[in-house]
Amino acid sequence: MSVLSHKPYTLEEKIEAQAYDIGFDAIGFCEANLDPSIEAGLRAFVARNYHGTMTWMEERIEQRAQPKALWPAVRSVISLGLSYAPGNDALAGLQQKTCGNISVYARNRDYHDVMKGMLKQLAQSVVKWGGNSTEVKVFVDTAPVAERDLAEKARLGWRGKHGCLVSRNHGSWLFLGEIYTNLSLAPSSPKGGKCGSCTRCLDSCPTDAFLEPGKMDARRCISYLTIEYKGSIPLELRSRIGNRIYGCDDCIAVCPWNNFAQTARTLKFHARDENSAPSLAELVQLDDTTFRQRFSGSPIKRIGRDSFIRNVLIAIGNSGDKTLYPYVIPVMKEENPVLAETALWAARRLEVQKTSS
Ligand code: SF4
Ligand code: SF4
Repeated sequence: MSVLSHKPYTLEEKIEAQAYDIGFDAIGFCEANLDPSIEAGLRAFVARNYHGTMTWMEERIEQRAQPKALWPAVRSVISLGLSYAPGNDALAGLQQKTCGNISVYARNRDYHDVMKGMLKQLAQSVVKWGGNSTEVKVFVDTAPVAERDLAEKARLGWRGKHGCLVSRNHGSWLFLGEIYTNLSLAPSSPKGGKCGSCTRCLDSCPTDAFLEPGKMDARRCISYLTIEYKGSIPLELRSRIGNRIYGCDDCIAVCPWNNFAQTARTLKFHARDENSAPSLAELVQLDDTTFRQRFSGSPIKRIGRDSFIRNVLIAIGNSGDKTLYPYVIPVMKEENPVLAETALWAARRLEVQKTSS
């Protein structure tokens, strides 16, 4: 049902009503240009190596920072948000040391798959209503697009001190997607909201990844280390990772604007039971086949079995649970040196606890 109380009559209102009907939770429009400071910020970030091994960030910076550099015909951007707000305390799983904690966004279906179809459906309506010469392109983390900056410009919210978008209505729990079009659409109006003097997200980071508000060193971020990074995780950060086996929600979950968020209405984002508090003993025994089966349709499948088992081993080393020791021993014999080394580290951590008890 449309959220508009009157019959839609402008093109923007028709698109907005259709977006809510399809299932989006937020929408805004903006001109297809971004302030030059955004490109400068991206260049400074990679120049200081804060992006670690994410070498794709070094490429196509101009296209990322300026929509017209990616597609010269674009005149407007439609920014869309889809809530994945959890219905319970996102950080509760951090206390269950013998279980893995999976980031909220990855507890069920891969949002890219869910959102892409919704964006295409809305884009078809834009073409139908826009006239014969209307062109569109849809993106959901699939091309160099500064999606948070565009979402801010389209008034979905503002860039919080944690660097992610914050929405008055949905807090920090929004997946973002975009429709670029050659139509000229009226920009959305400001909706208010700001961080003010709050610093909760900056103070919450277990690995001190924030350099200053809005700026982080990704190489210290648990999301980067457990998802993007393939090597041996730096020793000095391992104990701080706790039982986070895929991503980290701490800076997002503590944002007070989340208090206004309703639980995600997209059921495909509600946590699967088996991903709410999965046993580390079960996970560490997954081989390539069972890993793929276990995480079919999940974003976790993308990082591959070995990176996932590396993360599980760190959680086991941090668990303090001596009964997990026998599960670590077989991994020490694996060919992958990262796995063998991390298994040895986990075994030694547990051994210390064994002998001292
Ligand atoms: S995701 Fe976690 S580790 Fe990364 S910056 Fe936020 S709180 Fe720190
Ligand atoms: S936790 Fe506070 S500072 Fe961080 S994004 Fe939310 S309101 Fe802003």
